[in-house]
Amino acid sequence: MVNVLVTLSITKGVGSVMKNLEKRDYDAVVVGSGPNGFAAAIVLQQKGLKVLLLEAKATVGGGLRTAELTLPGFRHDICSAIHPLALGSPFFKTLPLEEFGLQYILPAADAAHPFDNGRAAVLKRSLGETASRLGTDEQAYIKLLSPVVKNWPDLAPDVLGPLKFPEHPFKFACFGLSGLQPATLLARHFKTTEARGLFAGMAAHAIQPLSNSTTGAVALLLMANGHLKGWPIPKGGSQSIADALLGYFQSLGGEVQTNISVKSLGQLPSAHAVLFDVTPQQLLQIAGHRFSAIYKWQLERYRYGDGVFKVDWALDDPIPFTAHECREAGTIHLGGTLEEIAKAEQASARGQHPHKPYVLLAQQSLFDSTRAPIGKHTAWAYCHVPNGSVKDMTSIIENQVERFAPGFKERILAKHTFNTQQLQQHNPNYIGGDINGGRLNITQLFTRPALRWSPYRTSAKGLYICSSSTPPGGGVHGMCGYYAAKKALSDVFGLKADYLK
Ligand SMILES: Cc1cc2nc3c(=O)[nH]c(=O)nc-3n(C[C@H](O)[C@H](O)[C@H](O)COP(=O)(O)OP(=O)(O)OC[C@H]3O[C@@H](n4cnc5c(N)ncnc54)[C@H](O)[C@@H]3O)c2cc1C
Repeated sequence: MVNVLVTLSITKGVGSVMKNLEKRDYDAVVVGSGPNGFAAAIVLQQKGLKVLLLEAKATVGGGLRTAELTLPGFRHDICSAIHPLALGSPFFKTLPLEEFGLQYILPAADAAHPFDNGRAAVLKRSLGETASRLGTDEQAYIKLLSPVVKNWPDLAPDVLGPLKFPEHPFKFACFGLSGLQPATLLARHFKTTEARGLFAGMAAHAIQPLSNSTTGAVALLLMANGHLKGWPIPKGGSQSIADALLGYFQSLGGEVQTNISVKSLGQLPSAHAVLFDVTPQQLLQIAGHRFSAIYKWQLERYRYGDGVFKVDWALDDPIPFTAHECREAGTIHLGGTLEEIAKAEQASARGQHPHKPYVLLAQQSLFDSTRAPIGKHTAWAYCHVPNGSVKDMTSIIENQVERFAPGFKERILAKHTFNTQQLQQHNPNYIGGDINGGRLNITQLFTRPALRWSPYRTSAKGLYICSSSTPPGGGVHGMCGYYAAKKALSDVFGLKADYLK
C-alpha cells in the first residue's frame, strides 16, 4: 500500500473537495451485491470515489437473481419477484436503469385475493376502481387509502429511511397515526369479507402476527404504491434489475469482483470505508473484534423473524383460478379471510406450521413471455414458517393453490423447493429463512440493527452496515444502502450528504 498523503478532488457530483486522506487501494469497499450493496456502491461511485464491490457468489444480485430452477427454458425468480418497492424507490428512480436494459411490465391488476365463494378482491392501479369493487366498504377504503396515496411522494424519503426529524412532520404524523396500528385494528374500518381479506393479505407481507403494530404500515405502504405506480414484474426476471444496477455502476467506473466470500477484514484491500451488505450475525463474525462491547452486545441481541418455504413450478398451462380477477393479476394472496390469515401468521410466529398458510404467489409468465417456452408457464410461491424450519411445505402450499384453482396440480410439469436452511445456503443473509434481514417489529423498525445515533455506522471507525438489517428493512428498494453510503460520505470523506427530499 502506498502510504502518502494526497488530496483527492471530487470528479463528479457537487465538485466539492474531500478531506485530505492517506492513499489506499480503494476509497471504499462494499461487501455484498444485493440491491442495498449496489445502492451504496453507486452513491459512493457517483461522487467519483474509487469503489470496489465484492460478492461471494459467482454472479451479482443478492435477492435479485433469476435461473432455470426446474426445466430448460423456464426462468424462475430465486428470491424477489414483484417490485413495487423498486419502482417506487426514491433512490432507484433517480438512476437511468432503463438505459441498462431494465424494463418493467405492469399486469392489469397488481394483486388479487380469492375467496372460497369463487369471488376475489383486487388491488387495481385505480384507487376508485379498487374501492368500487368492495361493496359497502367503498367509502371506507377511499377514506383510509386516499390520504396515504396523496401524501406518499412526500412521505417516502421519511418513511423509507432512518428515524430523523421528518421533512413533512404533519403528513408523517398522520401516516404514523394509521400506520402504527396493527392490521387487525385498522381492518375495523371495513365490514366486508372482501375488504378485510384484501387488507390482511397486504399486511401479512410483514411476516409476523397481524396484531403487531407495524403490520398496518406495511399494508398501507404496499397498497399506496400499487395505486401510485403499480406492482411491476421486471422483463426477463428480477435478475434484470441487478444487471441494470451492475451496468450503471460499471459505467461510472465501479469495479466488481465475484466469488469472494468475505470471512475476515484481513481479506479486504485497504480502504477508507467498508460497507457491509450483510446481517448482524455475519458482521459479528467478520468484524466483531473491532467493535465496542456495547455494540457487540446489541448486535448479539438482534432478532431475526420467521422464515419462508418457497416453491417454483414449471406448468403446462396457466393456473386455473376460479375467480377470473386472479387471471389478470401478477400477485395472488391465498389465505381466505382476515381471521384465517391472522391465525396462520400467529401460528408460524409461535413455532407451528399452519395447515392452511397464507401463500404469496406470483405468475410472471402470464405477463412476460421470456419466462417460459411458448404456451408453458411458471409460478412462484412461498409461505411463512418458523425460523430455521426444515419441514417440507410443498403439498400444504399446493393444497392452498388447488383450493382456489381446482385442477392446478394437474398442470405441474416440474417443481423446485427451498426450505429455510436451503435459502440460507443460497444467500447467507437469509438467516433461518428470514427474507427481511431481521424482524420488522416496532423495536427494530427504525433502530435496526442497534439503537444508535446512526443505525448505519458501526462502533468501528470506517465500518458501516448497509443491508436490509438497517432502516427501512426488507424489500428491493436500495434505501438502506443509499442512507449508509450517505453517512459514510459525510463521516469519512467530509462530503456534504445531499439527501433526497
Ligand atoms: C423467497 C424470497 C422472496 C422475496 N420476494 C420479494 C419481492 O417479491 N419483492 C421484494 O421487494 N423483495 C422480496 N424479497 C426480499 C428481498 O429480496 C430482500 O429484502 C433484498 O434482496 C435485501 O437486499 P440486501 O441488499 O439487503 O441483501 P441481499 O439481496 O440478500 O444481498 C446480499 C448479498 O451479499 C452477499 N454476501 C453475503 N455475505 C457475504 C460475504 N461475507 N461476502 C461476500 N458477499 C456476501 C450475498 O451473496 C448476496 O448476494 C424476497 C426474498 C426472498 C428470499
